[in-house]
Amino acid sequence: MCHNIIDGRYFTDCGHFVPMSTGCKDCLQPNCLFSFRHVHPTGCKSQSCVRLMALPVKNPIRIIETICNDCKKVEKKWSAA
Ligand SMILES: [Zn+2]
Ligand SMILES: [Zn+2]
Ligand SMILES: [Zn+2]
Repeated sequence: MCHNIIDGRYFTDCGHFVPMSTGCKDCLQPNCLFSFRHVHPTGCKSQSCVRLMALPVKNPIRIIETICNDCKKVEKKWSAA
């Protein structure tokens, strides 16, 4: 089963993951609708073909030991009030 890989930054202080780009990991199975090796490129009606994508996988390409921008904004709002 193919799945998306989400590259992003992981902020350790608030635990948020901020996506930057998404890529697709091809499982190379001939019975998978999302693979370029799928044997029925048009109008696949096969019952044995996989029609679902696996859950996306988060790939933290950078680990940042602060809080994310969104959390910074929220923090500012609270400290201003
Ligand atoms: Zn696949
Ligand atoms: Zn098919
Ligand atoms: Zn955050």
